[in-house]
Amino acid sequence: MRYHHLLVTAIIVISLSPALISAHFFPNVSSIPSWSLPNSTKKTAWDEFQNFTGCRPGDKINGLNKMKQYFHYFGYIPELPSNITDDFDDSLESAIKTYQKNFNLEPTGQLDSQTVQQILRPRCGNADIVNGTTTMNSGKPLHTVGHYSYFPGTPRWPSNRRDLTYGFVPENQLTDDVKQVFANAFGKWSQVIPMTFNLSDDYTSADIKIGFFSGDHGDGEPFDGVLGTLAHAFSPPSGRFHLDSAENWVISSDITTSTLSSAVDLESVAVHEIGHLLGLGHSSVEDAIMYPTISSGTRKVELAGDDVEGIQALYGSNPNYNGTTATSVQQRETSDSGAYSVGSWWGLTAFVVAGVLVF
Ligand SMILES: [Zn+2]
Ligand SMILES: [Zn+2]
Repeated sequence: MRYHHLLVTAIIVISLSPALISAHFFPNVSSIPSWSLPNSTKKTAWDEFQNFTGCRPGDKINGLNKMKQYFHYFGYIPELPSNITDDFDDSLESAIKTYQKNFNLEPTGQLDSQTVQQILRPRCGNADIVNGTTTMNSGKPLHTVGHYSYFPGTPRWPSNRRDLTYGFVPENQLTDDVKQVFANAFGKWSQVIPMTFNLSDDYTSADIKIGFFSGDHGDGEPFDGVLGTLAHAFSPPSGRFHLDSAENWVISSDITTSTLSSAVDLESVAVHEIGHLLGLGHSSVEDAIMYPTISSGTRKVELAGDDVEGIQALYGSNPNYNGTTATSVQQRETSDSGAYSVGSWWGLTAFVVAGVLVF
């Protein structure tokens, strides 16, 4: 009995401990244990949205309010009423149309299967629309060439800060292999702009602070477990970069050999989030690093022309950059084994708000 009490106490202590925990890292996809994979009983964050396929304006479906919360989270419904209902009302229809434009889908205003499949993809926690300012396709005139976007007010690192440091939350106890993935990701951006990124041992004084967190971790943007949102990052000069420790992070580059829908390529997510740390928002260009989602089995670590244009407009070009950054070598698996998307302005709205509040 006493032992039982001890156990209960231990569980309570563990559950009260900070959200900062060790993340799951796997050297390659075959090393992910089956117990950590989603299956028929263990669902990922947004699986239930599948049930709303075919819903249209005028319908009333149990649980549809969660879809409204999803669109609110990513900026498509600016304010939710306190008595949020399951009615497919005008606000939801309008949100869906804007979302469809941003993701290059037919703007039907209905939850057709293509739209639901896109919604289900894992993605960045930053919002697509910040403070009601439309970004991505929906906010741009037709035939706009550049599809990259910025945070409201176009924040960037000031001109006297071109040599930035980054540090890792010490409690994560990351291995050198994991740290190297981030170094590679920073390298993608330093190739094209006159900035450098160096690892600092002093986390508290580093310009960019990187940490893996679980659930609620104090910035109003709780992580949601396997898939759903994967990470988020704040606009300059905040430097805060958070990743969901619940993901099955793969640190090698063999993710394209996997048919597992929950394996997430760490470097792909890191390259995307660093774009936010430098001031980029989401892009509607599917090949761009700053596209909000990434399909399962995908490794996408090379900047596309859209990313390069966007970041060079903020910081200028690296004199050594020869303009040949690959845009056509993205590796993509075309099977329909499920998709996860990384990126969109993962909770950008909230990030900016949080950034304003905290900084
Ligand atoms: Zn966070
Ligand atoms: Zn993003």
